[in-house]
Amino acid sequence: MTRTLISNGTVVTASDTFAADVWIEGERIVALTDPSQRAALGQADRTIDATGQYVLPGAIDAHTHMELPFGGTTASDDFATGTIAAAHGGTTTILDFAIQQKGGSLRAGLDAWHAKAEGKAAVDYGFHMIMTEANAETLEGMAALVRDDGVTSFKMFMAYPGVFLVDDQQIFRAMLRAGELGALITMHAEIGLPIDVLVQRALAEGHTAPVYHALTRPEVAEATGTERAIALAEMAKVPVYMVHLSAQRALERVMEARDRGLPAYAETCPQYLFCSEDDLRGTPGDEWQGAGYVCTPPLRPAHHHEHLWRGLRNYDLQTVATDHCPFCMKDQKELGRGNFAKIPNGMPGVETRLYLLWEGVRAGKISMNRFVEITATAPAKIFGLYPKKGTIAVGCDADVVVWDPNRAKTLGVDTLHMRVDYSPFEGRQIVGAPSHVLSRGDLVVQDDQWVAKAREGRGRFFKRGTFAL
Ligand SMILES: [Zn+2]
Repeated sequence: MTRTLISNGTVVTASDTFAADVWIEGERIVALTDPSQRAALGQADRTIDATGQYVLPGAIDAHTHMELPFGGTTASDDFATGTIAAAHGGTTTILDFAIQQKGGSLRAGLDAWHAKAEGKAAVDYGFHMIMTEANAETLEGMAALVRDDGVTSFKMFMAYPGVFLVDDQQIFRAMLRAGELGALITMHAEIGLPIDVLVQRALAEGHTAPVYHALTRPEVAEATGTERAIALAEMAKVPVYMVHLSAQRALERVMEARDRGLPAYAETCPQYLFCSEDDLRGTPGDEWQGAGYVCTPPLRPAHHHEHLWRGLRNYDLQTVATDHCPFCMKDQKELGRGNFAKIPNGMPGVETRLYLLWEGVRAGKISMNRFVEITATAPAKIFGLYPKKGTIAVGCDADVVVWDPNRAKTLGVDTLHMRVDYSPFEGRQIVGAPSHVLSRGDLVVQDDQWVAKAREGRGRFFKRGTFAL
């Protein structure tokens, strides 16, 4: 078994910061030792010198959409390109969303996603299940997924009528069932029926530019959906997790619920912390460039940023995931030229999350420990990956990022690895990046190069445990 020593680094977990050598044997962390006592443990086959660097748990992205079919096209990253890009940015586990086709079984939906990922994923992965119908068959089918397949979270939509939207009764039935099984319901909480009316009206009035994506999906639609999802969860006496929370008023609904002691959780995404409605307006004379910033919920005016940062700092928001769902400007976003409603929804992000959030650490908006918590430890705990993943401790999978706080990088299409022809952060300078990334003990990325022999297909499906916060 290969023995790796990460020497002289500063280990950072959600709770602690300390100097330690990290010893890895095979796929696991086997010891954390005082660097002054190194001699006692003998020789390593490979030593990574982490002097002046931080040793972090590999990050977990709890929200990705590799190869997602959407609006007549398919997200441009597959499980190979997307997970390789993830690893370059320090993310060593992704949770992607399998989809139950309307009229189909949960099982068939899960099988379809296994087929997309198997032999392709370069780092470990798990699946959430999107339920498009909560009927007798699918409610029954939830049990097998939770118990046998390690798929322990289900997502439902209040948005996208006719595609994903399920009514309150179905959501409520699924919540009750999740409660019986120890599973977690996650919600896309924008109320989609009135939004569709606003979209139709805007188009009828001749408004076709990308920014109308935001103007027809107001903050209140998300705030109301969030309140309703929390109310349903309270009635069902179950926890609930809001995906991609984007706005102040939605956050306030979560805060109120948490203040009342309810197990309401929420994630936000870097685009809601770093981009704004102004990006959707495009560049002067070229409003179409805003199409690259079309995601759902939409980007909000910039004053929301400080509220979301405060939410992260104060534990009202628990995680930052990416909702990675890239579409190229050419041929894909193009489908919506002349009709903003046909622009495929989604932005690339799986690779840039840590780079961007570290800017928040540098600016004093969150601590290093909180950075680790929101990117690794909290998603691991909420989604049943902990303690194998999500922290640095003896017995954990050796998913480790050696983070160089002085490493500078310019974000852009030429320096990033996601398979997409633009970057929402083109030209942005960041400081702080991985020097080494390990996935289950394999050194996969070093100095921005993929260095492991194995690549596509080396990632393993992770059977997750049930909700245990
Ligand atoms: Zn999503």
